[in-house]
Amino acid sequence: MSAIIIDGKARAAALRAEVAAGVADFVVAHGRAPGLTVVIVGDDPASAVYVRSKGIATEAAGMVSATHRLPAETSQAELLALVAALNADPAVDGILVQLPLPRHIDADTVIAAIDPAKDVDGFHPVNAGRLATGLPALVPCTPSGCLMMIREALGDLSGKEALVIGRSNIVGKPMAALLTAASATVTLAHSRTRDLAGHVGRAEIVVAAVGVVHLVKGDWIRPGACVIDVGMNRVALPDGKTRLTGDVDYDGALPRAGWITPVPGGVGPMTIACLLDNTLKAAKARAA
Ligand code: NAD
Repeated sequence: MSAIIIDGKARAAALRAEVAAGVADFVVAHGRAPGLTVVIVGDDPASAVYVRSKGIATEAAGMVSATHRLPAETSQAELLALVAALNADPAVDGILVQLPLPRHIDADTVIAAIDPAKDVDGFHPVNAGRLATGLPALVPCTPSGCLMMIREALGDLSGKEALVIGRSNIVGKPMAALLTAASATVTLAHSRTRDLAGHVGRAEIVVAAVGVVHLVKGDWIRPGACVIDVGMNRVALPDGKTRLTGDVDYDGALPRAGWITPVPGGVGPMTIACLLDNTLKAAKARAA
């Protein structure tokens, strides 16, 4: 049997359409569109691509998109001053500071300076704490998208054995919190975990968020498991081009898994759609 391939592009398009409908209602109710402002510091080419796609998707959903492009030598104080101005601007519902930041700027300090009500990335310690304690929060976009796909595959997650591989603040830890809140039995694996193969073999849900090409072998997968591959690893091809591949050996996992996300075309498209969703949520909460 071959796994059902979860179509992240189609799922993301459906979510973007839902958000666009919600934005249209918001405009009728409040006489203005929700606004997302992205701040990018420096000229990291991958970040520039992400920021451009975020701007296009924001406008396509009917929201107001603004981008502040700052030079790499911007000081931390200058960036904090911009964040303070955006916090105070009533037309700005969501603030996203694109990571990574140049080395002379402390990302934690900048994230902590964002108004938690406008923290559409969900990285502020207040939002992380609210998620961990079961309070309403702006939740990081990538794990939110993963949870939507897992729920659609499996329905009720109560009591399901879930394994999250990777404990970063932006993916692994919030993913574990979301699955815990959904009443799954959650194991959080990381670089010091022993017998990763054994943990994978017991899991009905596997979320791999590591950044190591094909760390998870196909024959580790429990038959019928739902496998969500967050990894985005760029590998060189013999012709000098590159391609994206995940943390899971996709071809090996396909005959064993029940559901699987491809890379690309799985988790990635959902992340931007969830950012739009968070911006609408933030706008509604601020307008309430
Ligand atoms: P990170 O580097 O912050 O964290 C990686 C985690 O993997 C760490 O917690 C580490 O303990 C764990 N790890 C490392 N080696 C391991 C091993 N051998 N066994 C088990 N765990 C191990 O990474 P991140 O920011 O969470 O991103 C992870 C991956 O997800 C990257 O490939 C990144 O590009 C991708 N990503 C994709 C999206 C998306 O939208 N698709 C969004 C965010 C991140």
